[in-house]
Amino acid sequence: MVKECYDSLILDVDGVVWLEGTNIEENIRLIRKAIDEGVSVVFLTNNATRSRKIYSILLSDAIGREISVSQIVNSAFSAAEWLKRAKGPSRVFPIGEEGLIVELQLAGHLTFGITEWRYADVVVVGLDRYITYHKLMAAHKALTRNNAFFLITNRDPAYPVTGGTIPGAGAIVSFLETSTGRKVDHNAGKPGEWILKLALEHAGRPENPLLVGDRLDIDIEMGLKAGIDSMLVLTGVTKKPPESSMGYMVAKDLYSAYEKGIIRFCKR
Ligand SMILES: [Mg+2]
Repeated sequence: MVKECYDSLILDVDGVVWLEGTNIEENIRLIRKAIDEGVSVVFLTNNATRSRKIYSILLSDAIGREISVSQIVNSAFSAAEWLKRAKGPSRVFPIGEEGLIVELQLAGHLTFGITEWRYADVVVVGLDRYITYHKLMAAHKALTRNNAFFLITNRDPAYPVTGGTIPGAGAIVSFLETSTGRKVDHNAGKPGEWILKLALEHAGRPENPLLVGDRLDIDIEMGLKAGIDSMLVLTGVTKKPPESSMGYMVAKDLYSAYEKGIIRFCKR
């Protein structure tokens, strides 16, 4: 199943490009090489707190190459884009940070505030580190009284930080599922099919893409389901190689995989 060479890299960001603000040079070195050799590179992350424009600035700075907005697929963009294609421009009550609101508005949706929940046909939930009871109450009301569509950016339960974890978007989703008795209508993030499809679209529909991530339950699970070659790198959440790795590759980091000949690039 391992391809001779890859014409595209679909890369997770946290744990692959950087970890808590520190660049992971062993991976970046190979990402830079891939870009220089004309391989199509797309960044795929569940983080919805930043807009793609902000990501393009941060990633360009980290990698030392120009990374365009079209090379970035985060779950804020994924949710906004899914909604646009499925339902057209919509009236949204968002729970999330600036990145989610910017992407929803760029996709042509209207975003309503806490006192305006009555106008929302869709509730979109992402990580919101400024969440309040009032915001949750407004989303609850839109879901129960307007029967708003329940769209989420991801279901990640928690995020790793130094010394442990912090609650993720999934914890906010669970709050609303509990309070409303409803289930999510669509998950636009990893490990769902849709966000990977969108990333491949942005990579120019490559013939031999390689998916790279640091989480088995999110990145690798998604790649395996889609039948795409997937590589777990041990630079992020997963520190030790799993006892058995059926159907996917494991590498200490991307550059060492390249040096061992596990990753080779082909021109498209
Ligand atoms: Mg990650």
